[in-house]
Amino acid sequence: MQVTPSGNPVVVSPRATPDDSLDGKQNILGLDRAELKDAIAAIGVPERQVRMRTSQVWHWVYHRGVSSFDDMLNVSKDVRAKLADHFIIKRPEIVEAQYSNDGTRKYLIRFADGNEAETVYIPEEDRGTLCISSQVGCTLNCKFCHTGTMKLVRNLTAAEIVAQLMIARDDLGEWENPTEGRRVTNIVMMGMGEPLYNFDNVKKALEIVMDEEGIQLSRRRITLSTSGVVPHMERCGREIGVNLAVSLHAVNDDVRTDIMPINKKYSVDQVLAACANYPGAHNARRITFEYAMLKGVNDSDQDARDLVRMIRKYKLPAKVNLIPFNPWPGTDYECSEWDQIQRFSDIVYEGGISAPIRTPRGRDIMAACGQLKSASEKKSKAELAREAAAVAAANQSDASHQGAPHHTSTGLT
Ligand code: SAH
Ligand code: SF4
Repeated sequence: MQVTPSGNPVVVSPRATPDDSLDGKQNILGLDRAELKDAIAAIGVPERQVRMRTSQVWHWVYHRGVSSFDDMLNVSKDVRAKLADHFIIKRPEIVEAQYSNDGTRKYLIRFADGNEAETVYIPEEDRGTLCISSQVGCTLNCKFCHTGTMKLVRNLTAAEIVAQLMIARDDLGEWENPTEGRRVTNIVMMGMGEPLYNFDNVKKALEIVMDEEGIQLSRRRITLSTSGVVPHMERCGREIGVNLAVSLHAVNDDVRTDIMPINKKYSVDQVLAACANYPGAHNARRITFEYAMLKGVNDSDQDARDLVRMIRKYKLPAKVNLIPFNPWPGTDYECSEWDQIQRFSDIVYEGGISAPIRTPRGRDIMAACGQLKSASEKKSKAELAREAAAVAAANQSDASHQGAPHHTSTGLT
């Protein structure tokens, strides 16, 4: 992987070739206000109408969820025709929607260039949370995370990030009654990828989502989770203003570096100091520390006491979310014993810090934290296995012809 001077990994950019399915038109889904205004001005809508038309189209696309210009009833017929000549309102494709028996829904979404990411809807009694991806894969390779094992990585565009919410709202039938009948009440940037390594697109997407004349989600209902990309944490608070969650998972550098390689770059102390400086961090708006419970790795009583000590040292208004480790095929880790998770939680509570244990959701459809990895990638492994078998068979017959052994690398580990 290449690294830029700022230290951010370079990811492959989305394919720049035109998307045939758009029929030569511009897809306006995911444009922000300024872009939409420019696009509308550029197709020859009279200048004095541009502002009004932009507001109208914005309302229909983001508040009402329509995907046809014919439905935009307060827009004059001739302008509707002009819009339809040049634009299209197109969601990415849902390749697979899986519904868990606990109500969790997982969507596998394929973008125009064929790359895929997952989005998860988690209904609870008092809220419905959508877990959104910010990248295809992730460059950070945390050892306990399935997403981190994906090889192909690229940033999602702002449009692709917003589209995940649009698709979930379609599936949940939420547009009929956009404000009262909300089923997605909260958003967490906790799907695939490190959102702070895709800062500009994530910021733009969240601004679209928070717009008062569009989807209207309050920043208080949005949480961004980072593995601790220190240089961008302050910016996140200042420029986006959403709640912050930090994947801590260990409080000493040895263990954290072992399970989260990013700790080599930004140590536990640096991460906690950045939390202390997070704009707007006060008691009403605490920082959440995520802590995956890994048996024999980070789950001792001493670890719990150290966690309390560190949070106190930095005087952090914090809450700890204990996540029972969610296993995935091929992982070396195990989830801590239930009693130990409970003990850990008690110790942190006794230290005056709230430490609820997160109930795993959607485990039956592999939709829980850290289990996301697109099916195409899983399939390609199966394909690789088939290819490897074919190569091995070919080699065998070669070897029997030539009497020389062949060595093949299947890429499978
Ligand atoms: N990349 C961001 C956001 C996504 S992950 C981040 O790391 O913060 C959401 C949370 O699930 C993170 O705290 C992540 O560390 C955690 N997680 C990853 N794999 C997990 C697993 N297998 N079991 C439990 N939690 C996991
Ligand atoms: Fe990336 Fe987050 Fe998974 Fe780490 S836990 S590999 S940062 S998605």
